[in-house]
Amino acid sequence: MSRLMFSSRRAPIYADIADEKWNDWRWQMSNRLNSAEDFQKVLTLTDSEIEALNSEGLFRVDITPYYVSLINPEDPNDPIRKQVIPTAGEILPFTGMMEDSLAEDRHSPVPGLVHRYPDRVLMLVTTQCASYCRYCTRSRIVGDPSAQFSRAEFELQLDYLRRTPQVRDVLLSGGDPLTLAPKMLEYLLSALRDIPHIEIIRIGSRVPVFMPQRVTDELCDVLQKFHPLWLNIHVNHPNEISQELEIACDKMTRAGIPLGNQSVLLAGINDCVHIQRQLVHDLVKIRVRPYYLYQCDLVEGAGHFRTPVAKGIEIIEGLRGHTSGYAVPTFVVDAPGGGGKIPVMPNYQISASDHKIILRNYEGYITTYEEPTEYQMHDPKTCSYCRDKRVEPGQSGVFGLLDSEDMFIKPEGFDQLHNRDGSTHRLRSNTEKWKPLGIGESKKEE
Ligand SMILES: *Cc1c(COP(=O)(O)O)cnc(C)c1O
Repeated sequence: MSRLMFSSRRAPIYADIADEKWNDWRWQMSNRLNSAEDFQKVLTLTDSEIEALNSEGLFRVDITPYYVSLINPEDPNDPIRKQVIPTAGEILPFTGMMEDSLAEDRHSPVPGLVHRYPDRVLMLVTTQCASYCRYCTRSRIVGDPSAQFSRAEFELQLDYLRRTPQVRDVLLSGGDPLTLAPKMLEYLLSALRDIPHIEIIRIGSRVPVFMPQRVTDELCDVLQKFHPLWLNIHVNHPNEISQELEIACDKMTRAGIPLGNQSVLLAGINDCVHIQRQLVHDLVKIRVRPYYLYQCDLVEGAGHFRTPVAKGIEIIEGLRGHTSGYAVPTFVVDAPGGGGKIPVMPNYQISASDHKIILRNYEGYITTYEEPTEYQMHDPKTCSYCRDKRVEPGQSGVFGLLDSEDMFIKPEGFDQLHNRDGSTHRLRSNTEKWKPLGIGESKKEE
């Protein structure tokens, strides 16, 4: 490490802990804080936090000593505190609230495997995390120590992947895959690598943020045996970027792992263009590329973290053009009901004609782009890539309208609904009422 940009912190109660312990992830895991009594040792709880911590059926609470030390104990609105210490807002229901808002369970061919997109799957490998985010989108399955995935379930997941050749990308998530026992993680990675059609493996992990001590040289040695392997971390606020995280990211990057970041847009935590700009700048400084900024899901317990979708559009407006393209994430709404991630952004195209397109930039400068008048169309017949294209039936999407003879995509039941003169139609009485009058007929004669 040539030059450290960020500082390190320890809450006063940990001042006397030996460095070997503090820097040992197992010590961090077994000394997590989870009760009002624990938290009172590092900060003064608010009434709202006490009410939540004493309520029944609360989503699991657990925070590593490292992560709790990043909280400013004087600030009841500290952005790190709000991510991990529950408040009374968490126990309030809201309109639109769902248990499984992304309908992941419905898209699971075998337990823990979510196959929503044509060529990639999400593989849930554990229910455990190093600490628990209060807005967790998988709180329905995460946190329960008695509901772990079994070896038999892993085998079912792997079997499905072995017989599903269109899957070229497997994303390990959970829970947090980097909390798995090292042997189990290595077993899964090597079983995946043995499947020839799996081209890339990805890991989504908040361990580097909650417990950077876990990113040891040994872990990096294991991970780099399974390249190409990509990893996304999850940082929401610049205060989470510590010296320890910087070192952990440096180790992973040196092991050849491209790093990205996924953030969630959270009210009262990072719903501000200036915080987001600082966050993305601090991320690229540690060679982490902002990947997604998520609209908060409609998940139970997360109502008080939600912002209007327009807040995300405003943030992208304040980033694109104002800062390095590398630093701008894609803002996405993960569609309730299981439609997958949908990007949402400001409009940059203002108008168009048959030979010109009118665009605006981030400054409001309006320009024209003259279209080519003699464009030689790409010829799919002479293109080997076009000839070899493989599309699973029903998966060509809106692009399929451009790429084939298909003329439309219709919602289910569309034809029946609009076939209004059919004698068996359920809206028959309505169609009769609206029957146009024939020539010579008049309304009075009916
Ligand atoms: C997010 C997600 C993926 C990966 O999506 P990318 O846009 O490729 O990062 C895959 N499967 C599921 C179910 C997901 O939610």
